[in-house]
Amino acid sequence: MEKTSLIGHPYGLHRVCEPIGVLPQPAWKLDATPVIYANELLINVERLNIDSASFAQLKEEAKGNEEKIKQKILSIVRERGKMHNPVTGSGGMLIGRVEQIGSHFPHTNLQAGSRIATLVSLTLTPLRLEEIQHVDLKTGQLKVSGKAILFASGPYAVLPEDLPETVALAALDVCGAPAQTSRLVQPDHVVVVLGAGGKSGLLSLYHAWKKAGKDGRVIALEANEDACQEIHQLQMAHEIICVDATNPVAVLEAVTKVTDGKLADLTINCVNVPNTELSSILITREGGLVYFFSMAVRFTAAALGAEGVGKDVQMLIGNGYAKGHAELTIQTLRESKPLRELFVARYASH
Ligand code: NAP
Repeated sequence: MEKTSLIGHPYGLHRVCEPIGVLPQPAWKLDATPVIYANELLINVERLNIDSASFAQLKEEAKGNEEKIKQKILSIVRERGKMHNPVTGSGGMLIGRVEQIGSHFPHTNLQAGSRIATLVSLTLTPLRLEEIQHVDLKTGQLKVSGKAILFASGPYAVLPEDLPETVALAALDVCGAPAQTSRLVQPDHVVVVLGAGGKSGLLSLYHAWKKAGKDGRVIALEANEDACQEIHQLQMAHEIICVDATNPVAVLEAVTKVTDGKLADLTINCVNVPNTELSSILITREGGLVYFFSMAVRFTAAALGAEGVGKDVQMLIGNGYAKGHAELTIQTLRESKPLRELFVARYASH
């Protein structure tokens, strides 16, 4: 069904129930009624990828119990009309089939039935869930049935045919990170990636390795020992250090040692747990840049942490959007066979 005569606000203001007047992302509640305005897209949702910081929090709260996680997600979506974790403030991504295209939806080659991933956060996507069939505790992906709305301003990607959909979804969820890493790394940079063994960490590592060249240096920090092994096999880092990113003393010691005290020109934080701000700041040289992609990063902890240790570093918030980010990410998996194989081993067919 379409409210044919009605054109919604391109940023989705017309779907905001509470508080009225704010944009959908900061809103508490959205109207997820699956009847589209003329400039919206209706999606038959098949799978959600819950943001990693959000999923880690939900998993901890539910003590790893799949049924409890399911119920919690259903209740958040019921209450808010979107999957916006009130604790972490983060969302995730979805894939599904286009069910209906509004007559005024911006120019598109999409057709009913096209399989797409939306490239906007679930924190601003009107969503109604009928059922969660399965929660994958390892990857944070959910098999669901439901409906979602994409606003006229919302970017999306048609799912590639040469990658399993779960792999594409996992990679597209974090596609801002590799795109911005590729922009930020200079040929002679010392780059440190924290949480290097996760989705965004690995994709960022690849671009850091590619851009840093023979004069640069790429250092991977990761707490998970299996992931450290996997990074080792990928041969995309000069140093791999198995260390807890929430321990600033251990992290500083390790990075000081492998850089002879020079520290990082660029630090990329891809960890999915809180309390890693100070580690990131301490291992970055004076005048260097910390790129905080992690959603578990708190502005106050970063700003006051840097001030507290007298560190004059630049800090950049990880914008989830960058022009061409989805294409670059999918291309990365096509370009690097070992990376693609690792993503397939981890995220395919769950
Ligand atoms: P991921 O695949 O879960 O990777 C996170 C990695 O960090 C994992 O290898 C994890 O190990 C590791 N880790 C966990 N605790 C650690 C610790 N104490 N020290 C060092 N490493 C640790 O996560 P992702 O999907 O890449 O996401 C990474 C972050 O980016 C999350 O905070 C997510 O919310 C955020 N994100 C941001 C945006 C944005 O637009 N800025 C978009 C999407 C996601 P284990 O596997 O053992 O836990």
